[in-house]
Amino acid sequence: MSGKVGEGVGKMNLVFLGAPGAGKGTQGALIAERYGLEQVATGDLLRDAVRRGTHLGQRAKSYMDAGELVPDAVILDLIREIFVSDPKGEEGFLLDGFPRNLSQAEALDRLLTDLDRPLDAVVLIDVPDEKLIQRISGRRNCPECGAIYNVYFEPPKAEGICDRCGTKLVQRADDNIETVRHRLEVYKKQTEPLIAYYEESSVPFHRIDGDQPPPDVEAAIVRGLES
Ligand code: AMP
Repeated sequence: MSGKVGEGVGKMNLVFLGAPGAGKGTQGALIAERYGLEQVATGDLLRDAVRRGTHLGQRAKSYMDAGELVPDAVILDLIREIFVSDPKGEEGFLLDGFPRNLSQAEALDRLLTDLDRPLDAVVLIDVPDEKLIQRISGRRNCPECGAIYNVYFEPPKAEGICDRCGTKLVQRADDNIETVRHRLEVYKKQTEPLIAYYEESSVPFHRIDGDQPPPDVEAAIVRGLES
């Protein structure tokens, strides 16, 4: 990799897959910035809707609190809004947290075929199960700028305060241990089958070792995308 950031790659449409705590959000933000892509993180959009008390937020909240998937109809309304009603990411997009099951993946394929905006790659960030729980329970988020920290591995300079914007960090309501265990089960049952789905598709698939320092994970993703 040399020269200008993202040189020679052009706009890309990406899906990021991985278990809760694998680093999709952190790496998604870095890769989206590097290539000028619109990061579409359905979890962030839903949390924002819950905070604002919108209709979408009201439909989603109880599922999110329980660590269950929000019903497909709700999430597909949100996705259609992003891609159809008020199109975003025309210079490339990075889907983080969607699709989460086979029917969502099939719906996405149909939508992107209709829109003639095919996927260029799928990136799986792979982290062993035993690491995920510690990663999620240590996670702290900035509600203002979206920065993500970990009290064990990547603490902010001042405890509980965002380095970037000085806002008080928060822990996600669903990052408690019981809900985390359930979210991992949901991932195994519903989302993990997407690995085979995309491996068998014609879209390039990159399995990245997510159990290494964040800059190394980022470099591995970039190598994969630019290979
Ligand atoms: P995340 O921030 O991606 O871990 O998502 C947090 C929560 O939002 C999940 O546990 C689900 O309740 C909900 N959610 C996010 N994305 C989806 C999706 N594609 N399908 C269903 N539920 C979702």
